Amino acid sequence: MQAIILSIGDELVLGQTVDTNSAWLSARLAALGVNTRYHQTIEDERLAITDAIRRAASEADVVIISGGIGPTDDDLTRQALARAMGVELTTDEASVEAIRAFFRGRGKEMPQRNAVQAMHPIGSSMIENTCGTAPGIFARLDRATIFVTPGVPREMKAMVERDIEPWIIEASRDETTTRVILTTKVNTFGEGESTVAERLGDLMRRDRNPKVGTTVSDGIVSARVRSEFPTIDEAQTRLDETVAEVEAVLGPIAFGRDEQTLEEAVIAQLIDRGLRLVTAESCTGGLIGEYLTRVPGSSEPYVGGWVTYSNAMKIEQLGVPSGLISEHGAVSEPVVRAMAEGALRRAGADLAVSVSGIAGPGGGTEDKPVGTVWLGLAWHEGQPPERIRTDTCLLQLGGHRATIRDRAAKSSLQMVRMRLMKHPGNAKSDGHGKQNPRNDLK
Ligand code: AMP
Ligand code: MG
Repeated sequence: MQAIILSIGDELVLGQTVDTNSAWLSARLAALGVNTRYHQTIEDERLAITDAIRRAASEADVVIISGGIGPTDDDLTRQALARAMGVELTTDEASVEAIRAFFRGRGKEMPQRNAVQAMHPIGSSMIENTCGTAPGIFARLDRATIFVTPGVPREMKAMVERDIEPWIIEASRDETTTRVILTTKVNTFGEGESTVAERLGDLMRRDRNPKVGTTVSDGIVSARVRSEFPTIDEAQTRLDETVAEVEAVLGPIAFGRDEQTLEEAVIAQLIDRGLRLVTAESCTGGLIGEYLTRVPGSSEPYVGGWVTYSNAMKIEQLGVPSGLISEHGAVSEPVVRAMAEGALRRAGADLAVSVSGIAGPGGGTEDKPVGTVWLGLAWHEGQPPERIRTDTCLLQLGGHRATIRDRAAKSSLQMVRMRLMKHPGNAKSDGHGKQNPRNDLK
């Protein structure tokens, strides 16, 4: 079954309102195995809406239209649908009564202009609106069944769940060629989208099923896998196979699937190993701590941290030798090393991550341009008396201040993950993750 989604409204075309209805509808249809061919957004213009309805009705089995069935003069979807069907509008008395009752329930008279909401093209029928005044419309035109829903997302969703989805499920029962579409995202951080695409290679061939594509959002590059097969079992099996292949070629930069965030992955890994993390932040101003504490349960592995923005704070709070700062500058390898080691000692944690950089827009020099960020990571090695080991990493980040701070914070989280992963032999926890945790880092 093929669907087309139309959304109606000047505010959508002008960009004042984001069209969330189409995205929601597509996802719901995909879950029912219905493929959405395209979305179209149309201004409140009767002829434009009429043309779009005619075209969609000739190209799909199901057309879902949201918006333009309010009571005002700019709500023209019902008139456009009647025009596309070549019929007049008629009034549905039961709907007039339902709208009257809606207002009565709120202690009001029905305004006369709401009466238009009880009108529908001859030959179509109305769909009850359980949470607003505008009933939906059910019509047939050309090869398509057409559903018109209110634009208000809450009312649209209620109507889809209560009336439209059951209709689609019933209609697709008779189909000989049902398709099930399942999707999963594999999320990565640390490489650009083109590098990820290059690594995926043939997996991204357009004629492949399951299909693999990439998207990027806030520095997180995701490989999206879309599996379309006649049965749910086959779609799931083939999806799982491709996801495993994708994860294998992407390696350790892949940190999670679907909605899992980098900070959730770090927290889960720390809990699994019974390790505690402390942060020492300069240019990120607490952003790493903010990300970590977004995760429910983060208090178990995350002990807290310092925001040492000034040199004085770095010296007093973390014990960074003042000579290091005067010799190398606050944004330097020796300083992030000393910050991480100081934080590790003073907090009594198992790992400490530190960051110092130039977020801009000012403060850059030829040697250290804006976007220069040093990360440090310190951990204990061996049984007491333990040695402290430290890793550092230099980033040259692009973009504005907010982007540089965000990428610096995410890079530090990924650095923690990578360190934890270097010890797969000790990854097994006792279920509580508390057995001699420091040895895990050897
Ligand atoms: P309408 O049914 O056209 O009167 O739309 C009522 C309200 O619903 C609009 O003012 C928008 O705020 C919202 N709306 C309409 N269409 C959409 C859409 N496609 N996505 C998100 N919100 C919408
Ligand atoms: Mg509108």
